[in-house]
Amino acid sequence: MIEDLFKKVKLRMGEEPVRHGGTKVNVPTDLMFKCPRCQTAIFREEFEKNGKVCAECGYHARISAQERIKITVDNLSFTEYDKGMRSKNPLSFKGYEEKIKSLSEETGLTEAVVTGECTIGGQKCVIGVMDSRFMMASMGSVVGEKITRAFERATEKKLPIVLFTASGGARMQEGIVSLMQMAKTSAAASRHSQAGLLYITVLTDPTTGGVTASFASLGDIILAEPKVLVGFAGRRVIENTIRQRLPDDFQSAEFMQEHGFVDSIVKRSEMREKLSLLLKLHNKGGNVNG
Ligand SMILES: [Zn+2]
Repeated sequence: MIEDLFKKVKLRMGEEPVRHGGTKVNVPTDLMFKCPRCQTAIFREEFEKNGKVCAECGYHARISAQERIKITVDNLSFTEYDKGMRSKNPLSFKGYEEKIKSLSEETGLTEAVVTGECTIGGQKCVIGVMDSRFMMASMGSVVGEKITRAFERATEKKLPIVLFTASGGARMQEGIVSLMQMAKTSAAASRHSQAGLLYITVLTDPTTGGVTASFASLGDIILAEPKVLVGFAGRRVIENTIRQRLPDDFQSAEFMQEHGFVDSIVKRSEMREKLSLLLKLHNKGGNVNG
């Protein structure tokens, strides 16, 4: 079941020209970006200036946690939490430590989520951003712990929290320890909610598995980028189980909105402004900074 989901996620990842094993991509793809949805070739520089969104069809490519933070938070307002926290290898899974090490070098991250405190449009909040480049942002013990601590700090400081989710699901290398993170993060989200504080989820591509089944679905307000993949198990698994064909747009953000799971679909170019407005509207404590 998980393998099936990973295959789909990998397939979609493969649509983007990426660096493989430290070797650089060839010259044309370095200069040009071919949109996987409408097949238009765009100058990479132009595409990046447009926030990695295709100007022709509105395709939103995946972006790194660093890029997301840069386009979302107020300049120089971000302070990172738990920067040095690294995964152990609780099941002595072969090759796991090496994988984490090489991904850290490749991505500049220590784990699949970056958390911290910032202001967005002058509104103070706690923020968490998951990055699919890091083991498909699967939720192991460190991801779960960082998300939990982000909720706990937000509760303690009476701050709202904004989480950009992306995940392939559980981290199989950590087995049951990974699954336990679902209950832990959900409990922390619940305590934050009981304190009367705002939690905004932003679903980005792809949000699946245990992350969808826990904190990603618990936001007071759930936003999503256009056409992102949101689901629990893979399409083929569900079709084989229920023996029915699923609609073509099944597990898209738009389908989720139609069925009441997503409140609003927000373009990347408008996300910052939308978050800033929502935070301002819900700001009871006057934590405005600037
Ligand atoms: Zn396109």
